[in-house]
Amino acid sequence: MEPLKITWLGHAAFKFLSPGGKSVIIDPWVMNNPACPDSLKRVTKLDLMLVTHGHFDHIGDCVALAKQHPAAKVVCIYETAVWLGNKGVQNALGMNKGGTQTVDGIKITMVSADHSCGIQDGDQIVYGGEPCGYVVQFESGFTVYHAGDTNVFGDMKIIGDLYSPDLCLLPIGGLYTMSPREATYACQFLGAQRVVPMHYGTFPALTGTPADFREQAQGIIGLDILVMKPGETLSFDVEDPRKHVGERPPGSPPAKKKATPRRRVRR
Ligand SMILES: [Zn+2]
Repeated sequence: MEPLKITWLGHAAFKFLSPGGKSVIIDPWVMNNPACPDSLKRVTKLDLMLVTHGHFDHIGDCVALAKQHPAAKVVCIYETAVWLGNKGVQNALGMNKGGTQTVDGIKITMVSADHSCGIQDGDQIVYGGEPCGYVVQFESGFTVYHAGDTNVFGDMKIIGDLYSPDLCLLPIGGLYTMSPREATYACQFLGAQRVVPMHYGTFPALTGTPADFREQAQGIIGLDILVMKPGETLSFDVEDPRKHVGERPPGSPPAKKKATPRRRVRR
């Protein structure tokens, strides 16, 4: 089986090429995302989108991408699925928290997020249901937790206990989400082994930095913080899910070699 490839499109948008060859985007804010490299704004293949909530910097290009790729499926909370359906999205698959659905061989569990979920529709804000995060188990078994926009909350411990994510994507920018301090606490609740920080730096108001996050989280044994650049891709092998190989976009400086994190006993 092929490795799972994860590309950060900037902000909360991640593109996955699954071990089974499916192209998946979580929080499809792509063409209008100022942090997304121009070369990645044209999406040539798309099988599945997951939307964490209705704010523009997450759902922003979902309708446009669904129109470009009419066979692509969109997973989101029920009320947002209805709204997307009204906007002409053909394959919106609504669900709710605690539920799991398998789409194209990829197992998707919706989990809580502590945030809000109004959808900007013209000059109105309409009810979009509640915000969420996702635990996504790819065909190889490799499991990714995308927290969406959220504060830290105690039930992250349940997410860690139930799903033991191999990789956690956590917001650190502050103001609208956790800052590094809360994200550090989240890592402890989750029993996180690897974290990619996201949702920072896109706008001046999002002031949390990976350097601050690293400093605050340095006491957590076995935690590997993987700081990505927009456009960067990480590969995760099936056989050894701890091994990651960085592939940087052309023209960027070479990656510093990361120390192999200590193996920690899984609960
Ligand atoms: Zn938001």
